[in-house]
Amino acid sequence: TPHLSPEELKGLVRTVPDFPHPGIQFRDITTLIGHHQGMAASVHHLAAAARDAGADKIAGMEARGFIFGAAVAVQLGVGFVPVRKPGKLPIPTIGIDYALEYGTDRLEVDPGAIGAGENVVIVDDLIATGGTALASAELLRRAGAAVTHALFVIDLPDLGGADRLRQAGIAVTSLMAFE
Ligand code: AMP
Repeated sequence: TPHLSPEELKGLVRTVPDFPHPGIQFRDITTLIGHHQGMAASVHHLAAAARDAGADKIAGMEARGFIFGAAVAVQLGVGFVPVRKPGKLPIPTIGIDYALEYGTDRLEVDPGAIGAGENVVIVDDLIATGGTALASAELLRRAGAAVTHALFVIDLPDLGGADRLRQAGIAVTSLMAFE
C-alpha cells in the first residue's frame, strides 16, 4: 500500500487548545500513532532520513521520542539509546540540566550506551524551542557521540528551535510544520 502523503499525515495529528496551559496549541500524536498507516509512514520517512544521515545509532527522548525513535532504530537495523528523565537509570549516568520557560529540567544517559565517535541521530515527536534537543545533543556529545542530524515528526517553526539546532551545526528534518 502506498504511504500516506504529508498532508494526510498532518491530518492525523490532533490539536488540543489550551493544553497544558492557556494559549498553548498542543499537537497530540496519539491519533497519529493509533493509525497503523500513519505510524508506519512516519517511521518510514524518519528512517529514510536517518539512513541518509549515516546513523550508527538512534537516540530518542523520554517519552514520546521513545515511540518513534525505537521504531526507526528497528527499521534501520541499528541500536537505540534512551535519553531519560532523571533518576530512571539504575547505573551511574551522565546528565545535563537545561532551562525551561519556568525552571529547569534534567536529562540523563548511560555513558556506556555510545561508542566513541558513533554517529547518533536524534529522534523526537516535536521541536518547539529546541531546548530539549540541544540539551540532548550536548549530552550525547559528552558521551562520545557525533551528533549531526536531528529528526522530528512535527516542527513549530515560529518557536525557532530548528534554526537554533542548525546554528549549533545540527541538520534538522521534520515531516510536517504547524505555523
Ligand atoms: P522544546 O524543548 O521547546 O523544543 O520542546 C520540545 C518538547 O516539548 C517535545 O518533546 C514535545 O513533546 C513537547 N512540546 C512542546 N510544545 C509542544 C506542543 N505545542 N504540542 C505538543 N508537544 C509539545
